[in-house]
Amino acid sequence: MAKEKSKKKLGMTTLIFIGLFLGAFTGIILYYFVPGGYMRDTVLVDGVFYVVGQGFLRLMQMLVVPLVFCSLICGSAAIGDTKTLGKVGVKTIVFYLFTTALAISIALAVGTIVKPGLGLDTAAIQTQDVTVAESTTLTETLLNIIPTNPIGALANGTMLQVIVFALFVGIILAKLGERVEVVSNFFAQFNDIMMEMTNMVMMYAPIGVFGLISYTVSQHGLKVLLPLGKLILVSAIASVLHVIICYSPLVKYVVRIPLPTFFRGVFEPWLIAFTTCSSAAALPTNLQSVRRLGASKGVASFSIPLGNTINMDGTALYMGVCSLFIANVFGIHLSMDQMMMIVLTGTLASIGTAGVPGAGLIMLAMVLQSVGLPLEGLALVAGIDRVLDMFRTTLNITGDAAVAVAIDATEKSV
Ligand code: ASP
Repeated sequence: MAKEKSKKKLGMTTLIFIGLFLGAFTGIILYYFVPGGYMRDTVLVDGVFYVVGQGFLRLMQMLVVPLVFCSLICGSAAIGDTKTLGKVGVKTIVFYLFTTALAISIALAVGTIVKPGLGLDTAAIQTQDVTVAESTTLTETLLNIIPTNPIGALANGTMLQVIVFALFVGIILAKLGERVEVVSNFFAQFNDIMMEMTNMVMMYAPIGVFGLISYTVSQHGLKVLLPLGKLILVSAIASVLHVIICYSPLVKYVVRIPLPTFFRGVFEPWLIAFTTCSSAAALPTNLQSVRRLGASKGVASFSIPLGNTINMDGTALYMGVCSLFIANVFGIHLSMDQMMMIVLTGTLASIGTAGVPGAGLIMLAMVLQSVGLPLEGLALVAGIDRVLDMFRTTLNITGDAAVAVAIDATEKSV
């Protein structure tokens, strides 16, 4: 029975992979070999592929708010007394902040050596206008974590506020115990419903992934990548280094599972993150993978939704690489102080970044502003942001998984 199940699981991951591959292939054929026109552009690319891909993204997003809410309530209630929860919570947040700051430092180190923006022919780059959101002050950002209306937070998908309210409910359920058994059971069962819904939606994943990738590739082709190849390369090198320096030791020495087991375990959420560019969309599968890797229900359902919102190593790394890239292009030398400032604002900005496609580009403005780098630089990066987003989102959810299994291991060993 168990063997049958794992066979089925493997089948789904393979199918998603095939969807990804076929999507890229179809996109390339359409972009390079099929002349533009009503059939190709309107019916196929903007019609079928767009609907199929966005439909999948929306289905995954449909799961997020109820899943994060129920999962965090159940997770914090399962961890039990406030003291243990406080310990696990503080440990998780410290791990998350540390890995994020490390990611951005690695990005700055690699960027300083490779200098991704030096000698760039800016005329060869397709620029795009980016609207910069009005920045909020630090005090406002902090206060905004507390919901004035929890139902409003749920309705608007304001994740940090949802988290705060869910934690309160979970802690109180644990405190009141039997008195609130009906409500505890309700959330536990609703959580099961959301997990089952995830399984259902995932059946559609291979087709959805096909739609998302064929749409992206047939829109952009591969040539947009060339002028900014060095930027993509630096991001890739820094991401791989982060996996080697940060996650590998965590998995190997703290969790004590072989690295291939871990990477195989997170492969399915990787594919979803890579193709949707939304860590929120990858959250349901990431939660399932971490459970399959052996994390307890309590820690997994607490750490993963929390990390999904506040832990974005890939986004932080991207902010570091892009800041250096823009500084290079405009011939600006960044001092050590400015680099420290980038680590600080990049870490904070990544916490505030929503797990949706392209959110990091908007938040990059905050980092650039903090060290006085020109915002026009955003337009240079915007053209290939989708590609960078694929990698940073994948790293974002890998970080959540690595920290969650590590926290679980440290809890089990005490
Ligand atoms: N797309 C990223 C995510 O969902 C956020 C970002 O744009 O950096 O994790």
